[in-house]
Amino acid sequence: MFDNLSDKLSGIFNALTKRGALSEEDVNAALREVRRALLEADVALEVARSFIDKVRSRAVGAEVIKSVTPGQMVVKIVHDELVAMLGAEAEGIDLEAPAPVGILMVGLQGSGKTTTTAKIAKRLTEKAKRRVLLASLDTRRPAAMEQLAVLGKQVGVETLPIVAGQSAVQIARRAMEAARLGGFDVVMLDTAGRVTLDEALMLEAAEVKAVAQPHEVLLVADSLTGQDAVNTAKAFDGRLGLTGIVLTRMDGDGRGGAALSMRAVTGKPIKLVGTGEKVDALEDFHPARVANRILGMGDIVSLVEKAAESFDADRAKRMAEKMRKGSFDLEDLRDQLAQMEKLGGMGGLLGMLPGIAKMKSQIASANLDDRVVKRQTAIIDSMTVKERRNPDLLKASRKKRIAAGSGTKVEDVNKLLKMHRTMADVMKSMGKGGRGGIAGALGN
Ligand code: GDP
Repeated sequence: MFDNLSDKLSGIFNALTKRGALSEEDVNAALREVRRALLEADVALEVARSFIDKVRSRAVGAEVIKSVTPGQMVVKIVHDELVAMLGAEAEGIDLEAPAPVGILMVGLQGSGKTTTTAKIAKRLTEKAKRRVLLASLDTRRPAAMEQLAVLGKQVGVETLPIVAGQSAVQIARRAMEAARLGGFDVVMLDTAGRVTLDEALMLEAAEVKAVAQPHEVLLVADSLTGQDAVNTAKAFDGRLGLTGIVLTRMDGDGRGGAALSMRAVTGKPIKLVGTGEKVDALEDFHPARVANRILGMGDIVSLVEKAAESFDADRAKRMAEKMRKGSFDLEDLRDQLAQMEKLGGMGGLLGMLPGIAKMKSQIASANLDDRVVKRQTAIIDSMTVKERRNPDLLKASRKKRIAAGSGTKVEDVNKLLKMHRTMADVMKSMGKGGRGGIAGALGN
């Protein structure tokens, strides 16, 4: 699975991570190669393009954490974007609905639909401990009905008795009724497949869906067909509204284009993958694990994650030191404001800043929302380094200049300075400990 792509990417990134410094051109050259590798893996063109754009814009703006190389940062960004492209979170089959929960299985003939139906039934029976009823709706191919009955027996799951001459809709109705009466938890309806997409197939599946009201509509698609599998999914989703996709024959798929593009193109999650002919060759699809397998650089990814953690810890330590010394200046305030934006605005910050209780009234009166945060950052940006380090320098004429430079009013500059002074005072008293320390800051 993904072997070719994985080989190519490790070649590209091994070269990149060894370099001490990276120019924008180095990154661009590497990304051109990544793009080519994705296209060779049969990833949809628009997916490859948007992937590269996202990686590039993050890589260019990224702050390189000390103790990792720029190349390692790029690997981490590529990894994160791969996970996002694959759907971020693993999604399993959803059984949260009143019993009997209907699962409609759709797909082209030969995609592995009937085998997959039996595989899922086995898993739901054994792992999720559900009573499952299987029903074949393939009225044109008696052999397909037989095949499901045989597979059902093999995995120890009941199948609905075959009644000759019934339509797919009639069988679906009978299956739901039998499940209700028989106390089954789940009904899996294996619809008829066709060699190609055709209108009759879609109409029949839509009718069955209307009757059975399934909770899941799963498309079974053959990963070996690459972009055709993605187009098939798009077509089925347009007509039936899919809830998920099962990609089969991943065991033989060295390219992986269908798996890589499916989520990005259709917006639907790959819920499971088939990895062989045997009835237990079925696996969950975990975007993070798949991304690790593709990149083959799990070590670097966790290295960067750890470094990022200690990077923030370093920052916090520096801040604590400043608090102790009572030297919290406007550069520090800007740092805090930037952190605040990263943490998702005021909500994220409120719980993190020390001495927050005392500042609450100021914050409320300053109406400190995220727009205000941007304005305050602009004000600090308009100061000279000297002014930031020593706010006492800020007399009327300087304030006027800063207000003009940041597109604000002197009043805004004053507000910011007042907020900074309050914070610095609180921090100083906390740093000293004792009565003026944490208890004092919290107003006790
Ligand atoms: P259907 O026509 O869509 O119902 O397809 P079948 O379930 O009859 O499967 C067609 C063939 O594909 C069978 O020989 C299956 O054993 C095989 N098959 C199904 N899923 C997988 C898979 O994940 N890997 C491999 N290697 N073969 C599979």
